[in-house]
Amino acid sequence: MSGRSGPGGRARRRLAGTAAVAVAGAAAVHAAPAALALAGPRRVFAPTLAGTGRADHVALTFDDGPDPTSTPRMLRLLADRGVTATFFLVGANVARHPQLAAEIAAAGHELAVHGLHHRLLLRYPPRRVADHLARAHDLVATAAGTPPRFFRPPYGVLSSAAWAAARRLGMRTVLWTTWGRDWTARATGPSVYRTVARDLRGGGTILLHDTASDTAAPESWRATLAAVPTILDLCRDAGWKVGPLGDHGLPDPPGRAR
Ligand SMILES: [Zn+2]
Repeated sequence: MSGRSGPGGRARRRLAGTAAVAVAGAAAVHAAPAALALAGPRRVFAPTLAGTGRADHVALTFDDGPDPTSTPRMLRLLADRGVTATFFLVGANVARHPQLAAEIAAAGHELAVHGLHHRLLLRYPPRRVADHLARAHDLVATAAGTPPRFFRPPYGVLSSAAWAAARRLGMRTVLWTTWGRDWTARATGPSVYRTVARDLRGGGTILLHDTASDTAAPESWRATLAAVPTILDLCRDAGWKVGPLGDHGLPDPPGRAR
């Protein structure tokens, strides 16, 4: 059950890259203090779990939507820049705003699963986790018109039950290699840019938020909105193409029927 076991000890022993360690620490810090203890700050993930893809590409991902206040603004910005991204949607938010979820997909973005509710999965027994992920998967699949390929647990805190349930649904679990800490009340466009840029490399996966989850500052998405153009400029100047996880060169989700 535990958050300690994660996706498997083999990967932990085999891989100890700096980026993976940073991701593990980041994932823990984003969670509540109780989860910090459970997840363990020294967890190490495989590069594909961290979202390390092809070196000439950067995956842009947004968590926690859809939100009718903020998501349309992000969609307009991305359309103006001709960029598509991956939106990790909360199933309950999709149920509330199915049309908006469908509009994200219609704009060419990739829809993925961020749980049914924005709660720590460690709170639930494995069967409940599997049921929640299946429901979220179906909500997102209906909105997108195609089954989602990727799953990211709320707060980035993964349990082995969630990882296995996502795998059974044909979804690869992907965290991130850098983030903007854009959920905090003190976040500004420049602070989000600097935080993303510090750990951004070719092949990286950027975590941002197109809305505020329960633990985020309510208007924090405004800092994200201000930061995205500068992040896109940085990637352009570095020669990295920005796109969704589906174009990131990750292996196909395990067990996925093609
Ligand atoms: Zn989230």
